[in-house]
Amino acid sequence: MLIFEKSQQGRTAITLDKLDVPAYTLKAEKREQEARLPEVSEIDVVRHYTALSKKAHGVDDGFYPLGSCTMKYNPRINEKISGFDGFTKIHPLQDKSTVKGCTELMDTLTDRLCEITGMDAMTLQPAAGAHGEFTGIMLIKAYHASRKDTKRTKIIVPDSAHGTNPASAHMCGFDIVSVPSNAEGGVDIDELKKVVGEDTAGLMLTNPNTLGLFDKNILKITEIIHKAGGLCYYDGANLNAVMGVVRPGDMGFDCMHLNIHKTFSTPHGGGGPGAGPVGCKAFLASFLPVPVYGTLPKGYNAKKSIGKVKTFYGNFSVLVRGAAYIDTLGAEGIKDAAQKAVLNANYLLSQLKGDYDVAYDRICMHEFVLTLQGLKDETGVSAMDIAKGMLDWGMHPPTMYFPLIVHEALMLEPTETETKETLDQAVEVLKTLKKQAVENPEILHDSPRKTIIGRVDEVRAARQPILKYQF
Ligand SMILES: *Cc1c(COP(=O)(O)O)cnc(C)c1O
Repeated sequence: MLIFEKSQQGRTAITLDKLDVPAYTLKAEKREQEARLPEVSEIDVVRHYTALSKKAHGVDDGFYPLGSCTMKYNPRINEKISGFDGFTKIHPLQDKSTVKGCTELMDTLTDRLCEITGMDAMTLQPAAGAHGEFTGIMLIKAYHASRKDTKRTKIIVPDSAHGTNPASAHMCGFDIVSVPSNAEGGVDIDELKKVVGEDTAGLMLTNPNTLGLFDKNILKITEIIHKAGGLCYYDGANLNAVMGVVRPGDMGFDCMHLNIHKTFSTPHGGGGPGAGPVGCKAFLASFLPVPVYGTLPKGYNAKKSIGKVKTFYGNFSVLVRGAAYIDTLGAEGIKDAAQKAVLNANYLLSQLKGDYDVAYDRICMHEFVLTLQGLKDETGVSAMDIAKGMLDWGMHPPTMYFPLIVHEALMLEPTETETKETLDQAVEVLKTLKKQAVENPEILHDSPRKTIIGRVDEVRAARQPILKYQF
């Protein structure tokens, strides 16, 4: 039941104080029709949202191995700190001298993120990873334009890339050139050499890539692009596997984004606020959106800025959570988190290998991809069926059907905070589901059976979506 359906005229959850100023009636700004807000009592509101929260599955409910999304636990200290009055009861337009703690936080966070990534300057403005990609590619565009190098119209993207990569480059006005993966799951160097040239503006790449594999040729790849006069953009969404161990700046990348809401905890999912800071090498720093915080490289000139990409300072409270996370872990803790994320993924992989086919059977980084094509051919049970089956065991499904180059893909990312017991339980569940697939496939076709909402009709949801409430 929607909250609108609980509405009763005249019911309210608030009591306003008596008016102690002269009444004023809005004229010009008045809407034509009263806003249709639900009229409910406080207990209605509390019960409604408490009930809804029980229907959802979050990191606080159970295992959430949604590959590519780094659904790591958000330590409660982050919430406590981001709730401080000094961070919440401020206004972006108030005098700078009154919010020195906030600007200091942005300075410190910027410097730490630069240190972690090997970049020289950074903007905290972008609201998400994809928004960061857009900002970073705009920097590359501004760089070529500043040199009057107008023939560079193409961005190279590996075929394993996250869908946002080609989309962001396209939004910046570039044509996309796809480069295939080799048998090891990395960029095919010979194919890359064939597509680079005088029209190459840059390359967009994540390492480890979306298969959870570290590209051993990374230095060769960035060198090939640089030799052709292009720049290298690093999609930092997978930094959780390598932070504190290796740095994109040292791999030859010129600019990059980070997903604060993945790598540096902070709750996400459901499209909530994120933060996608964009870092760059000194020669690109002047193009960054303004204002920039942290230590600025020599020769920085804000006049060359591409302009703002978001109002004010970005999603500040998400940045506070990220800063709190980095501060509580420290340099050693950051590295330890990355190593445990890799260890957990490899443990899970090693335990599942006997029952499921692995897309690329190598040591993985923080995530790995299974291919269920063989199981589907044999039993008719698809990756979707297994994923839905997991819901009945109180676990969130892995990412399904991504990356696109793997058939019947299931992508698992356990993250570093899961215990061995939780991982063992997940292994048990996946082994049980495999057994069911062979012995009683019908059960899995109608899974989940124990959740509040059963198997949804995805075709109908796509063809006849109900996108707005009909009053
Ligand atoms: C999540 C992700 C993105 C996009 O980040 P958003 O914050 O969701 O916009 C880009 N690339 C990769 C590899 C990702 O995993």
